[in-house]
Amino acid sequence: MKSRRAMRRVVLSSLFEHLEQRFGVDWSRDRFVDGSLSLPQIDALLAYKSDPRIEELRGALGRLERGTYGICCCCKARMPASVLEQDPARRFCAECEQRYLHHATQHDMQPSAFL
Ligand SMILES: [Zn+2]
Repeated sequence: MKSRRAMRRVVLSSLFEHLEQRFGVDWSRDRFVDGSLSLPQIDALLAYKSDPRIEELRGALGRLERGTYGICCCCKARMPASVLEQDPARRFCAECEQRYLHHATQHDMQPSAFL
């Protein structure tokens, strides 16, 4: 597991890229990604930019602050950094995701039923 600081940077990079693509933001990438923005400051910047991906990444930042980042929400296993770098907002380990996807398809459930 990488340091919390390193993972925060990965989450923020992902968030910044999304904001750039989706909203064409013109903030300084370095300030956003490497700055010591607090969660309330980030929330202020994100205000009115409602978007599911932003919610996911915002949730990841919250978990970083609470110290639960990278831990599967279902089985509490620690996820490898390589997996988190692929999707920094990931909440479930590969096993649980597979089980969940299988379950969801079988029972026609919405993802929200699991959150
Ligand atoms: Zn799991």
